[in-house]
Amino acid sequence: MPREFQFQVSPEVAANESLLAQHVAKLFQVSPKEIQKVDVLKRSIDARQKAIKMNIKANIFLVGEEYKAQKIELPDYPNVANKQEVIVVGAGPAGLFAALQLIELGLKPIVLERGKDVRGRRRDLKAINVDHIVNEDSNYCFGEGGAGTYSDGKLYTRSKKRGDIDRILALLVGFGATPDIMVEAHPHIGTNKLPQIIQDIREKIIECGGQVLFETRVTDFVIKNNEMQGVVVQNGDVISANKVILATGHSARDIFELLHKKGVHIEAKPFALGVRAEHPQELIDQIQYSCDFRGDYLPPAPYSIVKQVNGRGMYSFCMCPGGVIAPCATAPGEVVTNGWSPSKRDQATANSGIVVELKLEDFKPYEKFGPLAGMEFQKAIEQKAWHLAGETQKVPAQRMIDFTQNKVSKDIPKTSYVPGTTSVEMGQVFPGFLSQIMREGFVQFGKAMKGYMTNEAILHAPESRTSSPVRIPRDNFSLEHVQIKGLYPCGEGAGYAGGIISAAIDGEKCALKIAESLSK
Ligand code: FAD
Repeated sequence: MPREFQFQVSPEVAANESLLAQHVAKLFQVSPKEIQKVDVLKRSIDARQKAIKMNIKANIFLVGEEYKAQKIELPDYPNVANKQEVIVVGAGPAGLFAALQLIELGLKPIVLERGKDVRGRRRDLKAINVDHIVNEDSNYCFGEGGAGTYSDGKLYTRSKKRGDIDRILALLVGFGATPDIMVEAHPHIGTNKLPQIIQDIREKIIECGGQVLFETRVTDFVIKNNEMQGVVVQNGDVISANKVILATGHSARDIFELLHKKGVHIEAKPFALGVRAEHPQELIDQIQYSCDFRGDYLPPAPYSIVKQVNGRGMYSFCMCPGGVIAPCATAPGEVVTNGWSPSKRDQATANSGIVVELKLEDFKPYEKFGPLAGMEFQKAIEQKAWHLAGETQKVPAQRMIDFTQNKVSKDIPKTSYVPGTTSVEMGQVFPGFLSQIMREGFVQFGKAMKGYMTNEAILHAPESRTSSPVRIPRDNFSLEHVQIKGLYPCGEGAGYAGGIISAAIDGEKCALKIAESLSK
């Protein structure tokens, strides 16, 4: 029988199988030769002490005990070519995992995606970065794989249901992600690896008789007597089905506008907004690991920080160690920031959204837009930032201490944000109350993380697509829209997920509910 054991080792030992076996042998008071396998189940960093340790939970197998390496396999997906059709709008994590789950349940998904496949999408990302041209259907948010494709690929979530998370992680491993994501406390995949995984998911959907149509934007819904009948796509074609999973993400403003125009009930939803801060990674390593150099065995350090300022939470969001700041606008005439990292997180800078929680009352100046008030608040800031930075994809930027002192920075060094920056006093970008909270918040962050408050840190604005500004309400039990039968609001855009894993989990949940309703 293997023994489950928890212990701490140095980062060097944790990174080397034979050193790990030697360490375990000592603990067991046996010779290293008697250790057949240290099967690591969970790994996390403990940076609370001066000498950083790795926490390891492992099953220990001695020689002679039965050990079989666990192989993660994909479910047996049946052929669904002639089965009942379900429309899935959006090929982000919610849409793709909904499609896989539908197939597992014997239903045929028709996935409609406004953007291009992962390869075609790359050209459009180059066009934003280099030529400042935003394609409204193919960008960092729209296209195969959704908003998470060209991201850091962080795979953790606040969801408490470990079983659901492990299932999604196992599917990702089945589609080619490293099995390490099942072990690390804070797993991530990286921009260089995600596209292939997403392409493999698409190929599986098609191989099983499902359909995935790119450059197919949904422009209308066919609804009769409050029942879903199908969708209209950009060339005017009608695709009929009485079950539609709507997983269009937080940036599909045209979908929110369409629903509102058609009298389909939607609600304004609070979200968070702020800036993206970039520090030298070395500085973040020094702060987080209390050392001069991180060394060969520790990963580039992440950070997570939250403070209460004037009764609101101000916190780090989607932190990317060793990463790059990305231009995430989805329409011309606006700028938006977010971040990504390669799998090794080996870039010289660390970036993180630093955002303040908003309340519905903040959207009051836009109340004439009804449930779209938060979206209009968000859009106005993105458009103002675009204007202030010179009406290209350059973004307003300011050194951190200068921002807290209301001083325009004399110069802005080159940052990882490829389209470039313009020195702007950030107070001009945001409503006064938000700038005030951020100024005070950064001072508090500086006290909590010594070295964080520095003029070496450059703020980029705005970080505005943290979650959806709209909720598309659904029944808690059936997951159908509260008014339209057969419409399943899903994922981040509907307000039911925040991040890759929770969106994927929500996609599966909607598919399960559809299968359940069809079996009645
Ligand atoms: P989305 O991923 O937004 O997918 C929606 C899809 O619907 C898109 O492909 C879009 O093109 C399509 N669509 C929209 N309108 C239409 C229409 N009318 N017709 C047809 N198709 C349509 N999360 C993490 O957990 N970890 C990270 O490291 C991380 N990093 C990120 C980095 C960046 C740069 C960005 C932009 C986001 C990042 N996120 C990250 C957030 C994460 O990507 C989202 O939470 C997640 O993708 C939401 O999944 P979703 O399927 O609900 O929506």
